[in-house]
Amino acid sequence: MRIGVDLGGTKIEALAIDENGEELTRHRVNTPRNDYNGTIAAIVELVHLLESATGRTGSVGAGIPGSISEKTGLVKNANSTWLNGRVLDKDLSAALGREVRIANDANCLAVSEATDGAAAGKHVVFGVILGTGCGGGVAIDGRVHAGPNGTGGEWGHNPLPWPKPEENPGPLCYCGKRGCMEMWVSGTGLALDYKQTTGNQRTAREIIAAFEAGEKDALNVVDRLEDRLARGLATVINILDPDVFVLGGGLSLAQHLYESLPKRLPNYVFGGEVDTPILQAKFGDSSGVRGAAWLWPLQR
Ligand SMILES: [Zn+2]
Repeated sequence: MRIGVDLGGTKIEALAIDENGEELTRHRVNTPRNDYNGTIAAIVELVHLLESATGRTGSVGAGIPGSISEKTGLVKNANSTWLNGRVLDKDLSAALGREVRIANDANCLAVSEATDGAAAGKHVVFGVILGTGCGGGVAIDGRVHAGPNGTGGEWGHNPLPWPKPEENPGPLCYCGKRGCMEMWVSGTGLALDYKQTTGNQRTAREIIAAFEAGEKDALNVVDRLEDRLARGLATVINILDPDVFVLGGGLSLAQHLYESLPKRLPNYVFGGEVDTPILQAKFGDSSGVRGAAWLWPLQR
């Protein structure tokens, strides 16, 4: 049995799958925010709960909103800031009495979809989370490619390519730079653009609903988001040329993206020739927790 844990800023979800990827059981609890020891204790309790429910023991993988530095072994870049500077993998391994594997949550999405999701069996998979923020992850042959700096796939903090005068220098990001992709192609970015161009405050979900109802302001703001997303994905193709993109997160539910992006990509990809499929994550919200479980991959 494999256990995956998705450590989010508001909830911790844990799931157990059997050797065929069939879900056995799952459970979630609220994240003890700003409480590191409480976070460890909550994960240990979840794992024990799944094991007593199934009567089996499992390997454990965890997805976190950050990464572990190769250099220091400490968590970095987590927006759940109480994890930063901690040896989370070692502390969890000690608390659970077994080796725990940890990866960035967007990398977990890529691994999940590459293993038995929308991109099953593909060689190079680029996963994109379009949620409150925007993250990216790379899986090669179903395994995380984090890289020596742990920043593989961190596309959300590259600047928007081919910026127009009005897009320069762009909004300030929490990472300290201006104009990051995250500030444009995310729920936050969509709501910000809508507010700046219309003067009205609406959530990303409301804007997408208005777009689907054909409201002009929403059509314009989604048009800009799709063009910006196409520019960002084009630079990924120009560097990595993945076999497939898989989109997860709340905005990935907007079906128009899958018609629009393939038409826009040739405007930006070098040479204009693009056949890269852009697919919706098969497991939706569960991709992160499934990918964490698959950090202990099938024997190949
Ligand atoms: Zn940034």
